[in-house]
Amino acid sequence: MKILVLNCGSSSVKFQLFNTETEKPMAKGLVERIGTSTAKLRYQSMHDGRKIEKTIEILDHTVAIRRVLSTLQDKENGAITQPSEIDAVGHRVVHGGETFSESVLITQEVYNQIDICADLAPLHNPPNLKGISACQRLLPNSPQVAVFDTAFHQTMPKRAWIYAVPAILYKRHAIRRYGFHGTSHFYVSRRAAEIIGKDIEELKIITAHLGNGCSITAIKNGKSVDTSMGMTPLEGLVMGTRCGDIDPAVITHIMAMEELRLSEINAMMNKHSGLYALSGGLSNDMRELTEEAMEGNAAAQLAIDVFVYRLKKYIGAYAAAMGGLDALVFTGGIGENAANIRGKCCENMEFLGIRLDKKKNAVTRAIEARISEEGSPVQVLTVPTAEELVIALDTQGIVKKM
Ligand code: AMP
Repeated sequence: MKILVLNCGSSSVKFQLFNTETEKPMAKGLVERIGTSTAKLRYQSMHDGRKIEKTIEILDHTVAIRRVLSTLQDKENGAITQPSEIDAVGHRVVHGGETFSESVLITQEVYNQIDICADLAPLHNPPNLKGISACQRLLPNSPQVAVFDTAFHQTMPKRAWIYAVPAILYKRHAIRRYGFHGTSHFYVSRRAAEIIGKDIEELKIITAHLGNGCSITAIKNGKSVDTSMGMTPLEGLVMGTRCGDIDPAVITHIMAMEELRLSEINAMMNKHSGLYALSGGLSNDMRELTEEAMEGNAAAQLAIDVFVYRLKKYIGAYAAAMGGLDALVFTGGIGENAANIRGKCCENMEFLGIRLDKKKNAVTRAIEARISEEGSPVQVLTVPTAEELVIALDTQGIVKKM
């Protein structure tokens, strides 16, 4: 099957056209700066690696997706000859609330429910819905499937997802922890079990998705039992520009002292915090911070130290939550590439059974690898994430049942 996978943000559309038989993308790309006359469309054919780049006026998501479809049919570099070759569309949808614990075929009822969940993800679900509406118009004969970032974590027990605030807030506004990056944690935990050669049902795995956004998940017998992101993707680990865990009283205190509005405090916590803030505004990019730290920049070193310290605390916590640990899996741009971060994270963790092999850990490009010592009680792995592949395969599974 040929499945178009779409990830629609407020001003961007990421796309990959998958051939589910080979499980490989045929083409992929990105439209950025939607809503301007200088939008950028980048496209790459995976057949011969040829690239197309255009700067054009793209005022909304429908125009963006129409452009994507016409580029996919490009005479020289295209991957299809007509849109009807696209068997189905899989959409990444950020928030499925408590309504969606698995991927679903998009009907009017599902569309309305995603719209209701937009209260919990006002920045993410509305552009996801725009992408869905555009595809309904442009590809009226292709079934569409929603794959949710939150769905995998719906197995968390209540003690892990409830906040200790008045119960009426949960009843009235669905205030609780949901977790994100679900497709990534799902995929890398399954791959890790395959690489180890054991049934996922028998394993206690911690998966650390470390990219611009970071989250860590405890997966017991194949099910998510706890994860670090909460009602929104702000809770948990230190991230590129997000603060992660913070005393909630700090927020009201800063708002009062600095006379900040809600939008300003939100921007502070989401866009001006994390590695960026800890490094004194140097960078939110782990590569740059690592280079700076090696040259003796103390602020860059502090940012890295805090990042790793918080990560280690979560590993300890999740080993305790599961009553043991069989595997620790690193993924995401940092997890897959940054040997120094993995190394520091596993330092002095022998008491938990984590024994990293320094030579094997030296991999600095995204490959599947076992990086623990032979005989280490806990297997440590790097597994490149493949969220788009999960979306394509889920979409295929649902469409085949129709
Ligand atoms: P992602 O959001 O998964 O694309 O990850 C982005 C993060 O991965 C950024 O902080 C990058 O600096 C980091 N990253 C990517 N490649 C490397 C690398 N080779 N070494 C260190 N960090 C990297």
